[in-house]
Amino acid sequence: MQREMPARIPLQLRRDGDWGELYGRFGEAEAKHQAGRCLDCGNPYCSWKCPLHNIIPRWLELAREGRVFEAADLCHETNPLPEICGRVCPQDRLCEGSCTLNDGFGAVTIGAVEKYIVDRALAEGWRPGMDKVQRTGRRVAVVGAGPAGLACADRLARAGIDAVVFDRYEAVGGLLQFGIPSFKLDKSIVALRREVLEGMGVQFRLGVEVGRDISLDALLAEFDAVFLGLGSYRYTDGGLPGQDLKGVLPALPFLVQNGRVVHTVTHHDEGVDPKVTSRPIAGWEDRIELPDLAGKRVVVLGGGDTGMDCVRSAIRLGAAQVTCAYRRDEANMPGSAREVANAREEGVTFLFNRQPLALLGDGHVSGVRVAETTLGEPDAHGRRNAVLVDGSETVLEADVVIIAFGFQAEAPEWLARHGVALAGNGRILTSGEHGAFAYQTGHPRLFAGGDCVRGADLVVTATFEGREAAAGIARYLASQPVVESASTSK
Ligand code: FAD
Ligand code: SF4
Repeated sequence: MQREMPARIPLQLRRDGDWGELYGRFGEAEAKHQAGRCLDCGNPYCSWKCPLHNIIPRWLELAREGRVFEAADLCHETNPLPEICGRVCPQDRLCEGSCTLNDGFGAVTIGAVEKYIVDRALAEGWRPGMDKVQRTGRRVAVVGAGPAGLACADRLARAGIDAVVFDRYEAVGGLLQFGIPSFKLDKSIVALRREVLEGMGVQFRLGVEVGRDISLDALLAEFDAVFLGLGSYRYTDGGLPGQDLKGVLPALPFLVQNGRVVHTVTHHDEGVDPKVTSRPIAGWEDRIELPDLAGKRVVVLGGGDTGMDCVRSAIRLGAAQVTCAYRRDEANMPGSAREVANAREEGVTFLFNRQPLALLGDGHVSGVRVAETTLGEPDAHGRRNAVLVDGSETVLEADVVIIAFGFQAEAPEWLARHGVALAGNGRILTSGEHGAFAYQTGHPRLFAGGDCVRGADLVVTATFEGREAAAGIARYLASQPVVESASTSK
């Protein structure tokens, strides 16, 4: 039996601007067939390679037997956000990349089966069992409703700890909601996960920015502990001459604003207009006006996941020509191979070994000067540097240029007053997963995880750190006497 992914939206529809999730869902028979391809090889490399160490062969077996509720229970044992990871993980680099069948036969479609199990269980009324949970009377504030914060809140609730999640945005999900486009993750999936968490007793206080609308001191006074899942939002500035020209856009505001418009269109019939309540990202207010890309030549600089989301969004927005320029070769590109293949199929042209040198234009961008590169010696992180080839400069003509060079963490200045140590690159330092209390910062009641600790990374690694930090918080609180003022005040 062959590896098969769920059917995809036809190419022409995608090119015509369909923003629906690219991959459909398995039906029961397909899911059973695909799950049944697992060899149960005895040494499940897939589980080891999954950052959450999901018990993959077991839940594949349950799916094959049609025991979907038990499979959903098992998926949630290790993964607080399984239907989301099943959609957005770069499986080719993680679980599926190390499947024994990957050796010429085609890996088991682990992510698609994970999505099938949980989508179907939730649709049929399955919810996490909370009846055995013993309430501790402890309360924890979770700052950030991205995957790290949501995972932490889920595990706190299961440990009998009241979790209240704060986020500056009006909807939960962090980059799941305001970053990753709907063709990879439909926003109704994020909304359903919110409902599940609320059913478990998790509370959300949205549209509240900690450090502006409420202070960290106030949270520390009200709660027994605080988890920080703030994400990583400092835009990597390439410092290119001409980057202030009109028509040059930073990637995330482009994706966020576009996501809001798509979201608005999707919910048009319900009369919801999220733009009315949306709050722009601080400092980027002047950059988020969405340009009309129809018929335009769009060049995207950068080869990571964000770059792939930009090129594929530009296709759906009707751009006449979309080019991705990346300074290393294809093998060294950070974007998922599956996303690169999808982008290529949708009509994106890739120019590898091209280093951008300057943005050209008179008031409005008209092109990008690039030079060819070869790969030199590995740097301190083992990545081979791009070395410019003399005399190889050319100009890529462009009407719109989107810069997707990635993000870095930027811990807020109010953290420093609380004894939280920071790495030089803005990341929050914690005790890590092996500390006595996992992911504890320099302040005993402050924990942190996700992109604000690791730097820009993945949904699944943020989920892992949120999960582990919740275990660290629960252990820490169990070691502390109950302080009346913190645990009883509302
Ligand atoms: P975030 O998701 O960034 O969430 C942080 C939250 O904290 C935000 O909601 C923010 O509003 C809130 N916050 C911050 N400061 C405050 C404050 N002071 N007060 C209140 N709230 C605050 N990963 C994948 O695995 N697969 C993908 O396909 C993928 N695609 C991506 C596409 C794009 C465009 C981008 C930018 C990233 C992508 N990633 C992908 C990476 C992934 O989204 C992140 O690694 C992940 O979301 C990090 O989770 P987090 O919870 O640490 O942070
Ligand atoms: Fe694979 Fe991600 Fe699911 Fe782990 S969480 S099994 S890496 S899809």
